[in-house]
Amino acid sequence: GPEKIIEKKKAFLFPCSHHFYKNPPQIVKGEMQYLFDSKGKKYLDCFAGVSVMNCGHCNPEILEATIRQMKTLQHTTTIYLTQPMVDLADRLAHVLPGDLRRSFFCCTGSEANEGALLLARLFTGKRNFIALNHSLHGRTYLTMSTTAIPMWRADPELDGCVTFVPNAYSRNKPLEEAAVESLEAVEKAIVSKNTHNIAALIAEPIQGNGGMITPPSWYFQKLKTILEKHGILLIIDEVQTGFARTGKMFAIEHYGVVPDIITVAKALGNGMPIAAFCTNDRIAPALTKPSASTLGGNPVASSTAIAVLDYIEKYNLCAAAEKLGHKLKEGLLALQKKHPIIHDVRGIGLMMGVELLKENGQAAAEETDFILEELKGRGILLGKNGLERNVLAFQPPLVISEEDIRFLLEQLDMVFGLIKF
Ligand code: PMP
Repeated sequence: GPEKIIEKKKAFLFPCSHHFYKNPPQIVKGEMQYLFDSKGKKYLDCFAGVSVMNCGHCNPEILEATIRQMKTLQHTTTIYLTQPMVDLADRLAHVLPGDLRRSFFCCTGSEANEGALLLARLFTGKRNFIALNHSLHGRTYLTMSTTAIPMWRADPELDGCVTFVPNAYSRNKPLEEAAVESLEAVEKAIVSKNTHNIAALIAEPIQGNGGMITPPSWYFQKLKTILEKHGILLIIDEVQTGFARTGKMFAIEHYGVVPDIITVAKALGNGMPIAAFCTNDRIAPALTKPSASTLGGNPVASSTAIAVLDYIEKYNLCAAAEKLGHKLKEGLLALQKKHPIIHDVRGIGLMMGVELLKENGQAAAEETDFILEELKGRGILLGKNGLERNVLAFQPPLVISEEDIRFLLEQLDMVFGLIKF
């Protein structure tokens, strides 16, 4: 049972390993948008394993492709070309924005971002990077160095090659104003003499872990113009936002910008480890030494990813995320009118955040935990994020139904009603 799990966790995992909930549910089974614990309790999953399970848990159509490939050929290394990996690269080229058409496969989002940062250095011959406050890009050395969120910077002495600038967020300021200031800070960082030699700026289109921070629609075009003027590449980290999550295949499409490099992971494999950094014909040749990732793009993960892309297309998950996201946002905005603890509702499609502040304007972190616990009891698993862990994160599998959204909003309304403000 759950007690045993916690005992074992304490005995054999690193002490840093953390989890949501006082007693995390012992999940033993998944079926599309639902999870089941060891006692048979059913949960509506509104977290999707941090936006990984976009096509749902144990999706039979996708599993069929995974299992078929698993029984045929599991692994060879990329030294012998395998059909699934090159087919996946071809398929990705057709859904990636603009001229992005070359993919380098690896297994995790961190590796994809590490590769993207290296590629930017090789292409530009410059060493430094700009990243945004509230960012999370991974847990390898360079990617942790470009991560701003203190709780994810495990090494206090990270690489000094990164300059952080304010993102399009301020608790006490209109979003537009904060976004203008963010771009001013980028320009200032570029021209200041300690931050010369900048290869790239790396950014999530919507900052997931940082609190579902959603810049205004004009933000990335203006940013790209500034970067181009100075020969700096734009790396867009779509690890959390990619694959129909926001109602488009990639969130950056909402902003009408084609980045120089894009990174993908998580939902591409719907639970199988696969990731990639992708770029155009001009930049890709900068990586000259023969290099490959042993398991990156292996046949099983690649076949699964192809099935994921098929599924997104066949069931039009972009349209589903847009429509259901609209319903969810409407409902959350209605709750905001009723419950003053809700400071902000933000996000696009089925990537929504609800920031909670106490009456005195401080982050409502305990209340956020209380809501997660209460919803768990009522059969709903929700996420949380933000620098102060006071943002409710809504990122369910995209196969969720309107009925599920209604149930979620109804339960949320009741739980918010329990909080004294
Ligand atoms: N970038 C973003 C935006 C992420 O959300 C994450 C993980 N939460 C990562 C990169 C790192 O991915 P991974 O854990 O697969 O290394």
